[in-house]
Amino acid sequence: MDIILLGPPGAGKGTQAHRLVEHHGMRQLSTGDMLRGAVSTGTPVGLKAKAIMDRGDLVSDDIVSELIDAELTAMGPATGAIFDGYPRTEAQAQMLDGILEKHGRKLDHVIELEVDEDALVERITGRFTCANCGAGYHDKFNKPETPGVCDRCGSTEFKRRPDDTEETVRKRMGLYRAETAPILPGYEARGIVNRVDGMAAIEEVTHAIDCILAD
Ligand code: AMP
Repeated sequence: MDIILLGPPGAGKGTQAHRLVEHHGMRQLSTGDMLRGAVSTGTPVGLKAKAIMDRGDLVSDDIVSELIDAELTAMGPATGAIFDGYPRTEAQAQMLDGILEKHGRKLDHVIELEVDEDALVERITGRFTCANCGAGYHDKFNKPETPGVCDRCGSTEFKRRPDDTEETVRKRMGLYRAETAPILPGYEARGIVNRVDGMAAIEEVTHAIDCILAD
């Protein structure tokens, strides 16, 4: 089964994708994670993408589509894919159709996480992760039990994404509205869009998604 998780930055796509990976053995294909990996290892794609990402702008359609194509080639046909943060433009949606066809795959569901933008700004600007194990935290909603110490691995090093400032977040949301939301009607016409309340508790969102996948 192949699905797209759609929603503005901070809607919880990554969190839900991790849970789907654990529960259903699917594979998360996050272009944001792939690009951050490329930036940190300093590949040519990473060098090109860094400034664009730091500004909150979109990386070129060709670059992200090539990353997705390469991942699908590597993972083989038996594993379901969760597209997280891709496609983000009409052009990417069309490219994805071509890529899926080439790999003999098809989209089963597009799940849109519906959220309140102002609440999202608070969610995103407060988030941080353990620099060692990647465990996710939040200044207000999910603090480590002992301040400054990771619950999972005990590390005292944490990091924040450079693009999680309020200004950049507002820009990324504007781009979601202008560039990404318009791809929904095309998927609606195929009858594969499901909407989930992304402001509900994490468990409830997971449950709603599980119900859609079981349908
Ligand atoms: P994300 O982790 O999905 O919020 O992505 C972080 C940043 O990576 C975005 O603000 C963009 O600069 C870039 N990015 C990630 N996915 C895409 C995509 N599908 N198309 C263009 N840019 C992307």
